[in-house]
Amino acid sequence: MGTVIDAATKDNDGSALASKKVTIIFVLGGPGSGKGTQCANIVQHYGYTHLSAGDLLRAERDSGSENGTMIDNMIAEGKIVPSEVTIKLLERAILETDNDKFLIDGFPRNEENRAAFESVTGIEPEFVLFFDCSEEEMTRRLLSRNQGRTDDNIETIKKRFKVYMESSLPVIEYYNSKGKVRRPIIYICP
Ligand code: UDP
Ligand code: MG
Repeated sequence: MGTVIDAATKDNDGSALASKKVTIIFVLGGPGSGKGTQCANIVQHYGYTHLSAGDLLRAERDSGSENGTMIDNMIAEGKIVPSEVTIKLLERAILETDNDKFLIDGFPRNEENRAAFESVTGIEPEFVLFFDCSEEEMTRRLLSRNQGRTDDNIETIKKRFKVYMESSLPVIEYYNSKGKVRRPIIYICP
């Protein structure tokens, strides 16, 4: 893990973001749990800017970037894109936005993402909003949302659930142990 963090640190200009004081909330939950849907609701009332790590990666893939093919392959397999790529996109989006409050949706997805983000940016989240949704409901939502995504098919969905259980839940457990996880009191999957 140390090597990857070092690589991420080396590739990023951490000082750029260090000069901007920001409040960050991570919005986490399984694939199709409604992270993006609820972020869109939250921004209307609380003055946050919504940054979806998945949307940033899809835009980077579609921009013809040198990482496009790698990102496309990772998404199609439900795998987690290397931290340095995602962190750079998040840093750029934060710096480009004239706001200091951000909801980051769908990141960090594993312990290495989490540690690299903290080490590169020096930022810890205020708290983590966690959408806990049953696998049955998430599957129903993913298969009915029709957004033309290459990963919303049953084969990839199974892989995404596996990655979520094995790699992403430990991140939520980590923040829970620090008392930073907030679960919405009323959450109805729309
Ligand atoms: N992804 C990633 N790192 C991130 C966020 C997303 O590698 O920080 C990739 C990963 O392959 C994931 C896909 O993008 O399966 C879609 O993520 P998104 O958050 O858009 O989907 P959701 O969790 O809503 O299904
Ligand atoms: Mg999403």
